[in-house]
Amino acid sequence: MGRETSTARPRVVILGGGFAGIGAAQKLKKADAEVVLFDHHDYHTFQPLLYQLATGLLETTGVGHSLRDLVHGHDNTTVHKTAVTAVDLEAKSVQLEEMAPLSYDYLVLALGAQVNFFGTDGAAEHAFPMYTLPDALRLKEHVLDRWEAADKDPTLIDDGALNVVVVGGGPTGVETAGAMAELYRGEFTRDYPNVAQESAHIVLVEAGPEVFAMFEPDIREYTVKALAKRTVEVKTGEIVSAVRPTRVTLKSGDELKAHTLVWGAGLQGNRLVDSLGLKLERGNRIGVGPELTVTGYPELYAVGDIAAITDAKTEQVLPQLGSVALQSGEHAGETIARRIAGKDVKPFKYKDKGTMATIGRGAAVVQMLGGRTMKGKAAQAAWGTVHLALLPTNEDRAKAIVNWAGAGLTHQRAGRITVSADRD
Ligand SMILES: Cc1cc2nc3c(=O)[nH]c(=O)nc-3n(C[C@H](O)[C@H](O)[C@H](O)COP(=O)(O)OP(=O)(O)OC[C@H]3O[C@@H](n4cnc5c(N)ncnc54)[C@H](O)[C@@H]3O)c2cc1C
Repeated sequence: MGRETSTARPRVVILGGGFAGIGAAQKLKKADAEVVLFDHHDYHTFQPLLYQLATGLLETTGVGHSLRDLVHGHDNTTVHKTAVTAVDLEAKSVQLEEMAPLSYDYLVLALGAQVNFFGTDGAAEHAFPMYTLPDALRLKEHVLDRWEAADKDPTLIDDGALNVVVVGGGPTGVETAGAMAELYRGEFTRDYPNVAQESAHIVLVEAGPEVFAMFEPDIREYTVKALAKRTVEVKTGEIVSAVRPTRVTLKSGDELKAHTLVWGAGLQGNRLVDSLGLKLERGNRIGVGPELTVTGYPELYAVGDIAAITDAKTEQVLPQLGSVALQSGEHAGETIARRIAGKDVKPFKYKDKGTMATIGRGAAVVQMLGGRTMKGKAAQAAWGTVHLALLPTNEDRAKAIVNWAGAGLTHQRAGRITVSADRD
């Protein structure tokens, strides 16, 4: 691999092609700069829909979008699929797995977050996290495999082959538990007529006293009812202490028979930040100032899930959400473009579109800034509007509308097949 080529234009390096990285790249499209985006995948992951991939409602291309496609028409931008292994902030250089190091004039750190098992015994080996596209595929294939196995050998049912424990009563856990229950009580009832549905359990375990602690009481009440209607059993005030391939142990001493444990309980900033020598905030996130730069490094922007961004309005650290990532990435891209053009720059202002989640078909919840809430079908429509805006292209939006409308009308989960590349 050759050494970097010299360029008269400033070089902007973007690390990560999630909402934040893509937001930055979009705003740099017309900048008089050389823009280079690195991601260890060749696709952008639309994380809010991972649970739909895991439960067969969507296929891979409904959740992953080609990164190269997203920068078509950006004459100043190149994309490389490679892992970033280190960043030397003093030398202003990034190190890459399969390429020579590359220096930068501006750096946008948008490497996102990763799962945090909080050191739970056996979780790293046996739990199914829900953060990446491969995570969602692994979960789907594992659940399908367990149903196929139990269909052939019913003794597995008593051993908990069809039981799923979902850890975490936040949006990831609740959405996954709700979608899994709809898959079980819907398609699987017809797919596996010889398996008694009542012997397949979905249990949601939350350490705190309630699910959806971040929402208003009416939403929490609605959520518990919506989960119960979908036959999800909720255990609050319980902590998972050990995970084995077929058993889950709770701190209270109870042992649950379950061949599947979905981990939706915790995130931490990408571990690469540990090597940067920066002081980190709660959750392993990089603290940034009002322009989203890191103190002492005016050329270094940290955006999205990897950053701890304080909201100018509420003075609270913003949550790890798609809209925060997209807007902060856009702000960094726009600010860099303005600095290159010699224009003045402004502090970041977050436009809050509400906090929302989907529990199941026709059952969503939305909480607006100020506490106003929506539930049910109206909330589902609001969820659709906000999430369509997060999709990277108009083509993706059109595809999502067709997919969502189709799934809503037919209730079909066409993605519930397993295709193995190493088997004819
Ligand atoms: C299951 C789930 C459901 C969610 N639902 C919602 C929702 O409904 N609404 C909402 O607003 N938000 C939701 N979120 C949160 C939202 O998806 C995140 O806040 C958002 O994706 C963060 O964007 P980001 O660009 O900071 O990071 P990411 O989207 O994580 O992107 C980081 C990118 O960096 C790349 N990368 C990481 N490490 C390396 C490396 N070493 N080298 C090269 N590349 C690397 C990754 O491949 C990835 O493409 C959900 C999250 C999850 C996990």
